[in-house]
Amino acid sequence: MRQDVSHVDFSKRPFKVTAEGKDYFAKTVIVSTGAFANWIGLPSEKALQGYGVSACATCDGFFFKGKEVVVVGGGDSALEEANFLTKFATKVTLIHRRDALRASKIMQDRATGNPKIRFVWNSVVTEIKDPAQKKVLSVALKDVKTGQVSEMKTDGVFVAIGHTPNSELFKSQLDLDVKGYIKVGEGSTATNVPGVFACGDVQDHKYRQAVTAAGTGCMAALDAEKFLEAEHS
Ligand SMILES: Cc1cc2nc3c(=O)[nH]c(=O)nc-3n(C[C@H](O)[C@H](O)[C@H](O)COP(=O)(O)OP(=O)(O)OC[C@H]3O[C@@H](n4cnc5c(N)ncnc54)[C@H](O)[C@@H]3O)c2cc1C
Repeated sequence: MRQDVSHVDFSKRPFKVTAEGKDYFAKTVIVSTGAFANWIGLPSEKALQGYGVSACATCDGFFFKGKEVVVVGGGDSALEEANFLTKFATKVTLIHRRDALRASKIMQDRATGNPKIRFVWNSVVTEIKDPAQKKVLSVALKDVKTGQVSEMKTDGVFVAIGHTPNSELFKSQLDLDVKGYIKVGEGSTATNVPGVFACGDVQDHKYRQAVTAAGTGCMAALDAEKFLEAEHS
């Protein structure tokens, strides 16, 4: 059954989950609501997703072997994506809206020392061409200090401006980290509420891969089963 959950009450057991106006009660709950990539918000970016615009270098980097790509962002994940992409691309241009990176020193050193990576500072992408051809040809860049607009040829655009976990629903119910990911115990899927487990991208700011999500999904099922068994023994 596929329904949108609008409210949960984990304050007492059985836990209450409200979906499309109906209340469901359960002894345990596994939360697996995922996370979404943050996008710049351009219509051309949306139109070209899957046609050269991506938010996941691990997933799509291979398709840019021998090509030139741009990475948008300036944090640790942007530099990680840029470094990873140099395994495939001939040139990686990192476009950052500020004149300094937010990333950690070690990541900055690695990126600045990589001869395949170059930086464009104080700039934002205002358009990606060409949705009509269903192919990335170039990006329009705007210098945020001077307002000057320029065009840069590229074969691909990787947007690396963070992810947002779908955890809004659980804000006052479960412990979340500063970025909103659900906190779980080390090597476990247990949340701070006994009987509530979390798996997949909603609790994973690091790997965010299908296989790791499926792995933690299996862990959550086993954790929930053990939890119920312990209660009834
Ligand atoms: C474009 C793209 C390409 C990718 N390519 C790869 C790849 O090649 N290889 C790889 O390993 N990984 C890839 N990933 C990452 C992979 O898809 C994720 O890591 C994985 O899907 C996470 O699984 P999940 O179950 O945690 O979350 P999701 O797959 O996001 O599933 C969460 C589900 O919860 C539902 N949901 C959310 N809120 C509610 C609510 N309130 N009520 C009811 N349901 C709700 C959503 O509708 C969704 O169905 C890619 C991701 C994207 C976006």
